[in-house]
Parts: sequence; structure tokens; C-alpha cells
Amino acid sequence: MSGCVLCDICTDLCPYIFRKNHAGYIEVLETDDYPEEDINEIIKSCRGDCIEWDEDA
Ligand code: SF4
Repeated sequence: MSGCVLCDICTDLCPYIFRKNHAGYIEVLETDDYPEEDINEIIKSCRGDCIEWDEDA
């Protein structure tokens, strides 16, 4: 994710959505349900301001 400062907030708050991969980068896991409340909380907390919600995706 561009702008990511690897603060680990997303992986701490939502480990079922965000994971740090072997290369040390954050990746988004595939799931059928992305809990909107949790994701919005992460968007607000992300220090790199690099997470966004795309309704059409
Ligand atoms: S919360 Fe944002 S800046 Fe922090 S590790 Fe996750 S994507 Fe990177």
C-alpha cells in the first residue's frame, strides 16, 4: 500500500482483514464480508492515510 508506514494498526485492529506478508508489506485478505464499521475505524486510524473504501469493488 503506498503511503504505508508499517505502523501495524490495521493488523492489530483487524487481523482477519489485514496481514503483513513475508516481504513485510501489508496485504488485504480475501473475504466475503468486510465489516464496514471495522474498516471505517481502520481508515480513520491509519497513519499513512492509505486505506480507502471502494463501494463498487
Ligand atoms: S494502518 Fe495504514 S500505515 Fe499502518 S500498517 Fe496499516 S496500512 Fe500501513
